[in-house]
Amino acid sequence: MKRILITGGAGFIGSHLCDRLINEGNEVICLDNYFTGSKSNIVHLLNNPYFELIRHDVTHPFFVEVDEIYNLACPASPVHYQYNSIKTIKTSVMGAINMLGLAKRIKAKILQASTSEVYGDPDIHPQPESYWGKVNPIGIRSCYDEGKRCAESLFLNYHRQNNVNIKVIRIFNTYGPRMNPNDGRVVSNFIVQALKGEPITIFGNGMQTRSFQYVDDLLEGMIRMMQTDNSFTGPINIGNPNEFSMIELAKEILDITGSSSKIEYKPLPEDDPTQRQPDISLAKEKLNGWEPKIQLREGLIKTIHYFDQLLQQS
Ligand code: NAD
Ligand code: UDP
Repeated sequence: MKRILITGGAGFIGSHLCDRLINEGNEVICLDNYFTGSKSNIVHLLNNPYFELIRHDVTHPFFVEVDEIYNLACPASPVHYQYNSIKTIKTSVMGAINMLGLAKRIKAKILQASTSEVYGDPDIHPQPESYWGKVNPIGIRSCYDEGKRCAESLFLNYHRQNNVNIKVIRIFNTYGPRMNPNDGRVVSNFIVQALKGEPITIFGNGMQTRSFQYVDDLLEGMIRMMQTDNSFTGPINIGNPNEFSMIELAKEILDITGSSSKIEYKPLPEDDPTQRQPDISLAKEKLNGWEPKIQLREGLIKTIHYFDQLLQQS
């Protein structure tokens, strides 16, 4: 049995990771300040003697004895990470410093939830890990993009300078149950709008693309990455290479829900990337043939079912 710290453990991805690591027989400490996460995501674990919940902000130092740290604390939706952009930078950078300092002191393995946003609005397609990206360093997305890029730099420097056992994964757009209905990201927005019969808000002309990964596939990749030997640090892309335009996504959700919602076009936010698709060759090679198993329609059906039940309860 390992003792594992998950920062951002009450969020969408973090809460699924808590479930999975508990189910695999580990002891899990979930740390969160509930900025975008919620106790309701992990309430079912509160009576489990191997689960501990701690209200804490990663911008402040924290000490605990653990074997592994998954550093997920950071708002991920553009709406939320732009709400207090300075805090977002602090969370990524000071959070990384605090967690890396802890990992160094207690000799724990530490994994960073980085992002495809480090590639910015890419002019290489699909994006391999060797691509350095095209990020606007002063735009409205930079609090997130540059925060995560700085965190990657910190991780690699703690590894080079202090031999900390680090793992960096670059997560591409991931969706699934437990996304916050007010999260603002495209999959949850479209599903909630379709279920409520409200207009589907497409930003720009809807031809921009994303590659959507179901949360279970991400968890499998994350855990396999944590288990790789000490010499492999990443960064490594974890995503589903199947790429869709926002119009295609909207049509798929309308088709599954049978909703009569109309499409409404809204202005494209500044610096919105035009395309995104992971090159996952490295992940396949290093993570024992890992590849996503759940394709968009199947994942959407599960996610729509979740939101349908949630909306009926409220
Ligand atoms: P989320 O917003 O649901 O989860 C983030 C969690 O971190 C929340 O529970 C929030 O309350 C917590 N948090 C935020 N600031 C904190 C702070 N200062 N101290 C402590 N806790 C804090 O988002 P998510 O989709 O679950 O994302 C989890 C991680 O994965 C994030 O680091 C995100 O950048 C990364 N990621 C997610 C995606 C995606 O598509 N979902 C893509 C790339 C990277
Ligand atoms: N988007 C949209 N309508 C929405 C929310 C988002 O058309 O209601 C678009 C957004 O402009 C972007 C894509 O969907 O091009 C993905 O946005 P999201 O915020 O989910 O993730 P990110 O831009 O960080 O990849």
